[in-house]
Amino acid sequence: MENKALPKALQDAIEHIAKLPGYGERSAQRFIENLLKLPKADSIGTIKALLEMVDKIHPCKICGLLTEEEICSICSDETRNRQVIAVVEESFDAYAIEKTGKFKGLYHVLHGRLSPLEGITPDKLNIDSLLTRVEEEKPTEIILATNPTVEGEATATYLYKVLKDKYPELEISRLAYGLPFGATLENADTFTLSQAIEHKVKL
Ligand SMILES: [Zn+2]
Repeated sequence: MENKALPKALQDAIEHIAKLPGYGERSAQRFIENLLKLPKADSIGTIKALLEMVDKIHPCKICGLLTEEEICSICSDETRNRQVIAVVEESFDAYAIEKTGKFKGLYHVLHGRLSPLEGITPDKLNIDSLLTRVEEEKPTEIILATNPTVEGEATATYLYKVLKDKYPELEISRLAYGLPFGATLENADTFTLSQAIEHKVKL
């Protein structure tokens, strides 16, 4: 990007944001335009919150859920049902399920979904640690709660095969009921998501 009219500080900021997966130069520009329109104290507050978040938040050592602690509040909650693990793409999907209040098991966050076109192969996802957990924690049920999208379905199909091959006894189910294809858990309304959990389908 060669543009003499563009101040260097602006160009640097745009380049950083545009590097984020899913963001291009256009969304980076829009973010910066909106940030700069805020009163200076607010835009600085936004950046400070981001800085603090990046500094404090990291994946839980066990399940991958974003947390400020070493082990997240769900993994360390003795009252949760340790027999059931819901596998989600991102932490925000788990937060959406938590909001329904219908699920009392544990989570496992993949940090993405299979997408061979984008070079996201199984080794790029948090799958090895899921297999280790199944081996060590011996849950009786895995709920594949990836999104009802092409990539989410491909991810669920892959995990089903890997898990069933190794653990034929393991019960594996899938969220299906009521979620429109192409939707994401994060954006589904709480009622629909509650229904999807209550009417999960055994695979
Ligand atoms: Zn955890």
